[in-house]
Amino acid sequence: MGRFILKCLKCGKEYGQQYRLTCENDDSLLRAIYFEEKLELRNQPGIGKFHSWLPIEKELDTEAGPITYKSEAFARELGLSNLYIGFSGYWPERGAFIKTCSFKELEAHPIMQFLLENGAKAIVLASAGNTGRASAHVSALTGTDVYIVVPDSGIEKLWLPEEPTESIHLISMGPGNDYTDAINLAGRIAKLPGMVPEGGARNVARRDGMGTVMLDAAVTIGRMPDHYFQAVGSGTGGISAWEASLRLRADGRFGSKLPKLQLAQNLPFVPMYNAWKAGRREIIPEIDMKDAKKQVEETYASVLTNRTPPYGVTGGLYDALVDTNGIMYAITREEALEAKALFESREGIDILPPSAVATAALLKAVEAGNVGKDDIILLNLAGGGYKRLKKDIKLHQIQPVATARNPDIPLEELNI
Ligand SMILES: *Cc1c(COP(=O)(O)O)cnc(C)c1O
Ligand SMILES: [Zn+2]
Repeated sequence: MGRFILKCLKCGKEYGQQYRLTCENDDSLLRAIYFEEKLELRNQPGIGKFHSWLPIEKELDTEAGPITYKSEAFARELGLSNLYIGFSGYWPERGAFIKTCSFKELEAHPIMQFLLENGAKAIVLASAGNTGRASAHVSALTGTDVYIVVPDSGIEKLWLPEEPTESIHLISMGPGNDYTDAINLAGRIAKLPGMVPEGGARNVARRDGMGTVMLDAAVTIGRMPDHYFQAVGSGTGGISAWEASLRLRADGRFGSKLPKLQLAQNLPFVPMYNAWKAGRREIIPEIDMKDAKKQVEETYASVLTNRTPPYGVTGGLYDALVDTNGIMYAITREEALEAKALFESREGIDILPPSAVATAALLKAVEAGNVGKDDIILLNLAGGGYKRLKKDIKLHQIQPVATARNPDIPLEELNI
């Protein structure tokens, strides 16, 4: 029986609900097709509410979940009458209890559950910081082994709201390696016996976990928003919001028009912005991210620096932008910092750098007339409340068990 099937978006081949990242015939993303066609909210405090459209059997009972609220002060500043904030982070006054402070926890819970239900023992992933922290937290809660590969720039982001457990295996990469190097090393570790790759955007649990931000907004507002704003590095959140809106449209109770994706990257590293602006499905590295490593080092929000995003693949971000008549923005550090200060002073909560980039994109969109003043807008602030959290909880740094010089290091040398 089961609750869903996986279906290839290119050749249409259907698979059962076993853990699977790729089609046998091509490289398309797979999508979960749920037998529950209408969203039926469960009586759970966090993302477990959205069990209808999560690829797991057991309902998640975590308190971590997205929240949506209508902005007043910040919206007034922008002259917008229907601005909704999707907030993933820690803000107890508003009922937000993601103690790792980003929407990566919305994927970490269902991914870990999906893997456990498939008999996996250890999961391997690469992270620029936020994904690693979220999965380390879920590992600490569930005892499932995780191997997390993080570039130098991400190590400081690997803290936890509890004592780290032995189930967390953090592998740092030496200076000169970026997030994409971490992805490459994680790919090699994942081939060791007993290890399962997390799979990034290819993992439907990841996408459908992130998609709950859109679901929560639609349920809170009573319909889908007209516009969806987010900062993207891999674009997985954008793909997820699009897929969630396709399900909401099919449900029938939340409107029929898909939210327009309005997504942002930060300068100088903006490969998807460049490719989209040129009308291309392919990212051409020499054009779209020349001197990528140097650009990555110069960016403000380093979690937005994936050099191999699921952009051109069938069912990826390019398709999502085409289907929603989307827009992409390139944001400077100054614009992000300005937007951050404005938002924080009006709404009274701190936000993470990528959320500042998303906020700056909204300011640009208002200026450019890419949103109407009465349009229903969802600003997905995918990370925040870190300063707020530190007032309530003592944080613990996770210590690496090994350091890799480069992504090609012989794995015996790592001794993990
Ligand atoms: C990961 C992350 C993003 C970018 O997510 P995508 O995978 O590119 O959609 C944006 N904001 C925060 C806070 C993040 O952690
Ligand atoms: Zn296929």
